Amino acid sequence: MTEQTKVKPSYAGICKFCRGEFEKAKMSQHLKHCKERARMEAETAKSPEGKQFIRTKLFHIVLEGKYNPQYWMHIEVPAEAQLILRKVANNPLER
Ligand SMILES: [Zn+2]
Repeated sequence: MTEQTKVKPSYAGICKFCRGEFEKAKMSQHLKHCKERARMEAETAKSPEGKQFIRTKLFHIVLEGKYNPQYWMHIEVPAEAQLILRKVANNPLER
């Protein structure tokens, strides 16, 4: 009799900054320590507009397919965008 071991599905994704491949569960941690992301932020902060952008408060949101969890995405949204998202969620038909 053979014993079957359940292999947890792997849902790896690519970091947009460093192009490294990471598991879904580890992406949040990676983004905090991604050297390429830190380098790009430092580069952005060199201009006054970039400095302002870096100071903008962001929400870190993880999107996942309800029935297809292999589709997922980490995004950052400026805090001011919260009102727009809430309006869409409360009344999807209103424009
Ligand atoms: Zn990275």
